[in-house]
Amino acid sequence: MKSFKSGFISILGKPNVGKSTLLNRILGEKIAIISDRPQTTRSRILGITNLENAQLVFYDTPGIHRPRSRLHDSMVHKAIQTGKDADIILLMTEGQRPQIEADKAILKSLRPTPAPIFLIINKIDLVKKATILSIIDTYRDLHPFQEIVPLSALQGDGVDVLLETIQKHLPEGPQYFPEDMTTDQSERFLAAEMIREKIFQHTHQEIPYSVGVTIESFKDDPKKKLLSISAVIFVEKKSQKAILIGKSGRMLKKIGSQARREMELFFRTHVFLQLWVKVVKDWIDNPKLLDEMGYG
Ligand code: GDP
Ligand code: MG
Repeated sequence: MKSFKSGFISILGKPNVGKSTLLNRILGEKIAIISDRPQTTRSRILGITNLENAQLVFYDTPGIHRPRSRLHDSMVHKAIQTGKDADIILLMTEGQRPQIEADKAILKSLRPTPAPIFLIINKIDLVKKATILSIIDTYRDLHPFQEIVPLSALQGDGVDVLLETIQKHLPEGPQYFPEDMTTDQSERFLAAEMIREKIFQHTHQEIPYSVGVTIESFKDDPKKKLLSISAVIFVEKKSQKAILIGKSGRMLKKIGSQARREMELFFRTHVFLQLWVKVVKDWIDNPKLLDEMGYG
């Protein structure tokens, strides 16, 4: 009898390298989303894919956004935390504009992590083979990657090879999750996390830590192929609200349109997203709100 393998895979990398696109490609039509369970607060299990004799559980980690800011430390900290639970780490870079210094910083921060690290070079549809080879050479000097996989998350080339390679390195283990675990609750949670992620990317200092997101309504209309989502962003101070909204509403618009794009990729439907910003002093200590946000 063939043994069953399973494990947790964490995808790390700078924004825009194609993490969401890869996840979407891997999960394909069989999207199974599960929500955080209370004991795994804020470690973000995003999707499960079942292969023959294996179950791959993918984590999304907070993107590693600003290599030299204070925020970075906390982000990397979280990423390492996720890495500690992961059996395999995928560090994704892209062929067209590899950000070597930033990736070097990520690798450095990951150094205590025992999990094997694969280098994923995405967007190979945009570059020549010679370029990919030279990227491989450069990155080999940075870290002894267990595997290096060039692929195109968008077009699919190389994704099967990646899955086989992951399976090869996974430990033997149980099927952690049943094949279908999609719930409305978890989709809401995910949508809120996508908004939170964009806020993290675009704001500074204390704002990311002062923000919570709840989903007020989440209505799927398959006939119109439209998912309508209305969300409230909680902040603690008026001044934070002003920053989040931005000059002529520009900041909120940017956060909203990028979050919407992410949702459309993930939920595979058009999304109508409405965002509201509300000031509630000490919302962080409000158990009801925390519960609503899935952090209870
Ligand atoms: P993330 O921020 O790392 O999650 O990146 P996204 O998945 O949101 O992708 C960022 C952009 O890169 C999107 O416009 C994608 O369509 C594009 N992209 C992702 N993968 C590929 C790829 O393999 N080839 C090309 N040409 N574009 C890609
Ligand atoms: Mg993404």
